[in-house]
Amino acid sequence: MAKEKKKCYYCDDYVEISVGAYRKVSGWAQIREQGGSNSLAFMSEPEAWAHSACIDRQKQIKSGRLKQTETLF
Ligand SMILES: [Zn+2]
Repeated sequence: MAKEKKKCYYCDDYVEISVGAYRKVSGWAQIREQGGSNSLAFMSEPEAWAHSACIDRQKQIKSGRLKQTETLF
């Protein structure tokens, strides 16, 4: 069986749908005392997919550690 591939949300390249890939979903997160990440209830079907490298890069951009440029990798 061939591995399924989807377009990456960030780089438009194809993402192999397997362990390590990221999927964008919607769901319900309950407010907890410690905050942080919760598990989602009623998670939706994946709305988008992304490489783990692309997600890591977005995290760095959002935290200001990396300037957003087109010179990647
Ligand atoms: Zn990507």
